[in-house]
Amino acid sequence: MVKLHINRIKESRSDKPSCYLCGKELKNPKHTIHVHGGGSYAVTEEEAKTLEPHTGDLGAFYIGSECMKKHPEIKPYVTH
Ligand SMILES: [Zn+2]
Repeated sequence: MVKLHINRIKESRSDKPSCYLCGKELKNPKHTIHVHGGGSYAVTEEEAKTLEPHTGDLGAFYIGSECMKKHPEIKPYVTH
């Protein structure tokens, strides 16, 4: 489990996929993270199985490659 650093410069107003961390629209979305803890943490699928869903399992969200570079600690949690 890793704490996420959310810093959305702008909330996406369209239906297009955007980065969970910075809110930037993604032209080629492919990486996702499993967000838990009401939105504050990324977890692996293994960890998600051991956590109660009522503790805030939000499911999968897209993450941009820029944010992956900025926050290397979340890389092990990114699925392709
Ligand atoms: Zn981002």
